[in-house]
Amino acid sequence: MITKLIADARKIVIKLGSNTLAKADGTINEPFMKEFAAQCVDLIREGKQLVLVSSGAQVAGLSTLDRWARKKDIHYRQALCAIGQVELMDYWRNAFGDHRVHIGQLLLTREDFQDDQRTLNMRNTIFTLVDEGVIPIINENDSVSYEEIKIGDNDNLSALTAVLWSADLLILLSDIDGVYDKNPKEFPDARLIEEVSDIEELKNSITIGATNSFGTGGIATKLEAAVKVTSYGTPMLLVNGSRSRCIEALRTGTQTGTVFLARD
Ligand code: ADP
Repeated sequence: MITKLIADARKIVIKLGSNTLAKADGTINEPFMKEFAAQCVDLIREGKQLVLVSSGAQVAGLSTLDRWARKKDIHYRQALCAIGQVELMDYWRNAFGDHRVHIGQLLLTREDFQDDQRTLNMRNTIFTLVDEGVIPIINENDSVSYEEIKIGDNDNLSALTAVLWSADLLILLSDIDGVYDKNPKEFPDARLIEEVSDIEELKNSITIGATNSFGTGGIATKLEAAVKVTSYGTPMLLVNGSRSRCIEALRTGTQTGTVFLARD
């Protein structure tokens, strides 16, 4: 199923969570980014189009300025994202630069998706970048966002992006293999759910546990993202980005995950 969904999709949005981009010590996992970029380039060379939604500004910021780790004040947090966003994009530029592929950055807030003119401009920018072979890399504009105008998590941002761009497939890379009936980090006997056609039914049959240290959304926001895209006819995959060469493994059928089937 996963192999076929990826093979059939031409326009793919891939979201990378902070836990996927960070190493265990909390610094940015540059080897992963290089390996991931190489797999993206393979997809593009086969005629697919990609848009990335990348978390990790805080992680990248703390990798650079670890003395700010204990500063919880909102101004410091937002300043840290301003610093980290540049670092994050520098890592991505290097990773894709190895393959002579350009990247473009879009920093968005919820208001951008609520304003028709801005939405149209974002859409046109994404289409133009992709048509020119450039990979758009999107993140929430955390340095200007505040609670009331925040999307709040990149699961929902990636779903809004997939709908805006009319993607054929949304892939969320996380640090777990998919949705389980209970938190696999707490319960070793948790069972992976490989296919979901009714998200409401799923919500009633699983236990949603806590997120990880860098995670902002957890499973709840991943399910919100799934509701958004599947109702627009776009399927979603929740898979483990920390497995070796994960995109390739998914394409060859050696890695599983959770498939959220599109609603007709
Ligand atoms: P990210 O956004 O970086 O992918 P999150 O921390 O936001 O990561 O969300 C993934 C985490 O959600 C998992 O690492 C896991 O510990 C936790 N989790 C809680 N309940 C479940 C569940 N029922 N199935 C899978 N993961 C769960």
